[in-house]
Amino acid sequence: MKTSVSLVRCPDYGHDSLSAAVMKSIGLAGFDLSSLRGKKVALKPNLLMPFDPERAVVTHPAFFRAVAEAVKGYTDDIIVIESPNFFPLKSTMKKNGYLEIAEKLGLGIADINRVRELHFADAEKYRSLEIAADFFDVDVIVNIPKLKTHGFTHYSGAVKNLFGAMPGLRKSRMHMKAPTHPEFAGFLLDLYGALLHGFEKKKRFLHVMDAIVAMEGEGPGPSGRPKQVGAVLASTDGIALDHVAARLVNLDIDRILTIAGGFRRGYGVTSARDIIVKGEDLEKMTVRDFVPSKNKAFSGIVWPLTSRTIKNAFTEKPVPHAESCVLCYYCKKVCPAGAISNAAKGGKIPRYDYSKCIRCFCCMETCPESAITSERGRLQWLMNVFDR
Ligand code: SF4
Ligand code: SF4
Repeated sequence: MKTSVSLVRCPDYGHDSLSAAVMKSIGLAGFDLSSLRGKKVALKPNLLMPFDPERAVVTHPAFFRAVAEAVKGYTDDIIVIESPNFFPLKSTMKKNGYLEIAEKLGLGIADINRVRELHFADAEKYRSLEIAADFFDVDVIVNIPKLKTHGFTHYSGAVKNLFGAMPGLRKSRMHMKAPTHPEFAGFLLDLYGALLHGFEKKKRFLHVMDAIVAMEGEGPGPSGRPKQVGAVLASTDGIALDHVAARLVNLDIDRILTIAGGFRRGYGVTSARDIIVKGEDLEKMTVRDFVPSKNKAFSGIVWPLTSRTIKNAFTEKPVPHAESCVLCYYCKKVCPAGAISNAAKGGKIPRYDYSKCIRCFCCMETCPESAITSERGRLQWLMNVFDR
C-alpha cells in the first residue's frame, strides 16, 4: 500500500504563512481534519526541556500553535501530552511559550504523573510499557516532532518523538535496558507499534513535523545548532515521514535504524518505493550541507560494552568542560548508568566513570549549558576505515 508524505515550503514562523503551510501539508498528506469532529485529540510536541525556541531544541511554539489551531477548527476536546526531562510539563510549557497558547485555545494539559501499562503482544521484545495515562482516552494522536540530529540514534523525528509518551526518568531507564543503538531502535519500534496497535480503543495518527528551523550537529539538546531547512512535513505514517525528512537533510538512511526496522515490521509502508512525496520536489529542496552528528560509534555494531578498553578506544564519549559547566548536575540526575558523580573537592566538572557509561548521550542532551561535547575514542579512526 502506498502512503503520502507532504513537503511544503515555509521559510519562517510568521503566523499566517505558517498556518497556511500547516493546513496545506495536512491536506496533501490525505488527512481530513473534519474527521476530528466529536473526537478527543492528543497533541504531542517535542518539549524536551525549557529552552529558548530559537535554539531549535523544542518544537517551535508558533508551529505548535498553527497545528493546535488547525485541530481546534474541528474539536474542542484537545489535550497536550508530553514528558520533558526533569521539569513539570506546565512550567516547561510556560518557559517555552506554550502555556499562553494552550490557555487561549482552551487546551487541556496532561497529568504526566498518571501512568498506565500499555500491552502489545506482537512487540518484538518490550510487550508492556508504561506510558502517560491520558493517551488511553484519546481518539487521535497528533505527533508534532522537531527535525533534529541525535548523537545516539543519529536522527530524531516522528518515531523518536513518541519516546516522550513515557513519563519522566522511565525514559532514561530504557537506555539501560536497551544500551546499544540497535537495541534502542528495537525498543522505539516496540513503543511505536504499541501506540499504533496496542490500545483497545485504536488511535488514528497524524504526524506534522517542524522542519522550518531544524537542528544539526550534536543534537538533540542544546549542543546542536539551529539550521534553516524551511519545510513542513506531514503524514499519517511516522516511519514514511522520517524517511522523507532524513532525505530532506541528506542524512544517511542506513544509520536510522527505526526506518529499516519499521519497514520490516510493516508499521506502515514496507519500502521507500511506496512513499509518495506530495508538494515540493524533494531533490530540489534537499539541504546538502546539513551537518549530521559526528557520533558513529554504534552504527550497526554491537560492541562488547563490558570491555572498558575496547569501548573507550573505539567509541565517542561525552566529556564535560570546565569553561561552561555550572555544576548543576542535571547530567548526573539523568544518567541511567550512574556513571556521573559530583566534582572532586575544588573541581569544576562532574566526574565520569566511562567504564559504566553506556554512551546514551542523555547527559549531553540534557546539559543546559552545552558544556558537554562528544569526543572521539583513541582508535576511532579505524571505524572510518571500515565505514567507507
Ligand atoms: S556538565 Fe552540564 S549538566 Fe553537568 S553539571 Fe555541568 S552544566 Fe550541569
Ligand atoms: S555518562 Fe552520559 S552518555 Fe554515559 S550513560 Fe550517563 S548519561 Fe549516558
